[in-house]
Amino acid sequence: MVLHFCSRRRPVSDKVLLVTGGSRGIGAATARLAAAQGWAVAVNYSANSLAADEVVRAIRASGGTAMAVQADVADEAQVLRMFEHIDAKLGRLTGLVNNAGVVDRAQPVAEHSVARWRRLFDINVIGSLLCAREAVRRMGTAYGGAGGSIVNLSSAAARLGSPNEYVDYAAAKAAIDAFTIGLAKEVAPQGIRVNAVRPGLIDTEIHASGGRPNRVEELKAGVPLGRGGTADEVAEVIVWLLSEAASYTTMSLIDVSGAR
Ligand code: NAP
Repeated sequence: MVLHFCSRRRPVSDKVLLVTGGSRGIGAATARLAAAQGWAVAVNYSANSLAADEVVRAIRASGGTAMAVQADVADEAQVLRMFEHIDAKLGRLTGLVNNAGVVDRAQPVAEHSVARWRRLFDINVIGSLLCAREAVRRMGTAYGGAGGSIVNLSSAAARLGSPNEYVDYAAAKAAIDAFTIGLAKEVAPQGIRVNAVRPGLIDTEIHASGGRPNRVEELKAGVPLGRGGTADEVAEVIVWLLSEAASYTTMSLIDVSGAR
């Protein structure tokens, strides 16, 4: 694991946030907006250190606090090390955005391999569970924490099912919805709110990673609002859920999908 320290001294903040997959897309927009609202942000990434460093640089240039931290969220040892570094460098976590996620190539289920399913579930589901577990161990009053807020990135796919594209991804996101509901009930007595955001068609590089770089353009006619959304539009909802303004909002699954 590589850790970049882009803050010269340890910040004093009770708003310490980890954004998994914070280097690009919705995660990067969330990291920037949260930092502007006073969060000290750990920007997690998997492979693209240049993109993570650019997010951190932009936050620091605006007077915020951020550091980049590499870890594959599907790897328990890497996740444990990442949380320990955040403990040491930013302080006790009070916010988590479980954003790291992947799709695969559009294929009907009859063409899928077990390796594909394992990758999608390891990153999208196990990765989110792992990070949430470590967050609860820091935020929960039963663990000496002061409470906090967890926002999981689900998807409109969880209710659409994504036939002929990625039913497996949709199933993984439906697991995130159930996890959000259960964890919200479980940790509410410990002062932790847990919510999920379900984006629709959002203009990021995830579509190119699934082999369809023009997917938003191709499908936008089916969106009642008539366009794809932006990462910034999703980040607004995520950062609101993190904030005290959402103090009575927990166990919510919020669609940010233009009515798709
Ligand atoms: P994106 O642009 O493809 O960015 C993905 C981010 O996740 C990158 O920062 C990437 O890091 C990171 N990542 C990927 N695998 C990882 C791993 N194993 N460990 C740690 N980080 C990892 O994706 P996006 O469109 O912003 O999507 C963000 C979330 O929203 C995902 O959960 C996705 O399923 C969900 N979502 C997106 C849409 C959409 O239309 N865009 C719709 C519904 C839901 P590197 O830069 O190092 O590769």
